[in-house]
Amino acid sequence: MDLHAALHDHFGFDRFRPGQEEAVRSAVAGHDTLVVMPTGAGKSLCYQLPALMRDDLTLVVSPLVSLMQDQVDGLRRIAPGRVALINAQQAMQTNDEALQAALDGRLRMLYVAPERFSSPGFVRALATVRIGLFVVDEAHCVSQWGHDFRPDYFRLADAARWLKAQAIIASTATATPQVATDIVERLGLQEPVRVATGFDRPNLSFGVVPVTTAAAKARQIAAALAEPGATPAIVYAGTRKGCAQTAEDLQRTLGRPVIAYHAGLARDARAEAQRRFMEGEVDVVVATNAFGMGVDKADVRTVVHETVPSSLEAYYQEAGRAGRDGAPAKALLFAAAKDKALHVFFIKRGESDDAQLQQVARRIGQAAADGRYDVPVTDLCADRDDEDRVKAIVGALARAGVVQPVPAPVDRVRGRILAPFDQRALNA
Ligand code: ADP
Ligand code: MG
Repeated sequence: MDLHAALHDHFGFDRFRPGQEEAVRSAVAGHDTLVVMPTGAGKSLCYQLPALMRDDLTLVVSPLVSLMQDQVDGLRRIAPGRVALINAQQAMQTNDEALQAALDGRLRMLYVAPERFSSPGFVRALATVRIGLFVVDEAHCVSQWGHDFRPDYFRLADAARWLKAQAIIASTATATPQVATDIVERLGLQEPVRVATGFDRPNLSFGVVPVTTAAAKARQIAAALAEPGATPAIVYAGTRKGCAQTAEDLQRTLGRPVIAYHAGLARDARAEAQRRFMEGEVDVVVATNAFGMGVDKADVRTVVHETVPSSLEAYYQEAGRAGRDGAPAKALLFAAAKDKALHVFFIKRGESDDAQLQQVARRIGQAAADGRYDVPVTDLCADRDDEDRVKAIVGALARAGVVQPVPAPVDRVRGRILAPFDQRALNA
């Protein structure tokens, strides 16, 4: 089979990028495949091209609606009538039509939000279709060691098995061995073909700026962004409050519009903020880590972190949004001593016998940053079966003011995450 011809026919590209051809070959042949490549490397093509080359249905699961929407919009131009999307943001009728198209065999690819697979009716309906590839994009979300754990991802392996998918294709930009092992185990990949490429970003330069006071930091960030060629820029803030404040400060200092983006904003406001930044109407966005996956703006010249992020992995992902076009770009980290204290606190907690509490706290932080306050805390705990343990964790979190326990049936210990959430509450 001529993969190059297929690449050109479907996408109009002249050559594969590193790793793509091997991944495509594996998926076309129906082998379980694990694709680990940096953001922007072209992971989507590794399953989109095989899906278009095959004659069965490929399911694609991805954690974010915006990610799926972008991909589907792009594919609809390439393969009209062959690609559809099912998620909670669409009208029910649109979802029904998408499912019907899949059942009728009209589709090659169906993008599905992960929570759909908890609906037995949905899975049962799909089971009548011949499923070729079951794609789990951003597969690190299945791992509790990843920075972006999603409880919904737990169900995907069962769904894929139940639907008798020929192969599972997992892709991620998270390169740690622990996460890879977790993905293979939790998704039940069978002797997967592993495709990994390098993570070096030679066009990025990294700088760490020590700061002492908030005022000095604000001044220095503004100065960095006022330099010629410093924008478009993303400024990552540690909290929503910090995000709104910094956006306001920068707007005043720079004398032009600066937008804030965080999960506390209404969906429309978020979409509008993202659009204005993507289309170049504004050249600086201040955001929490909610502004992340799915942000694919090639010409970002600077990524600023105004505090030290929670992990090296998170830092790599966020800083890596700079310079995707290959031209020189900067990643600047503004670090204050108290940032370190916060992380030392979490690390110590991790080293103590309460590693699990720390882990749950992280996940809660992530859920809150994403605006998901109604996540049952039980879902965030690893050993859900141990009810006493879960109760103890919820109790500790409640005492720290992070969650508010809510009444629930005795077999479900639930907690409601309090908004607004500030991880520092745990430090008190
Ligand atoms: P990832 O998921 O790895 O972050 P994407 O799949 O979103 O990356 O791809 C990033 C960009 O690279 C997209 O705009 C895509 O069209 C482009 N791209 C992917 N493969 C190729 C290729 N072989 N030739 C040219 N452009 C490509
Ligand atoms: Mg991707």
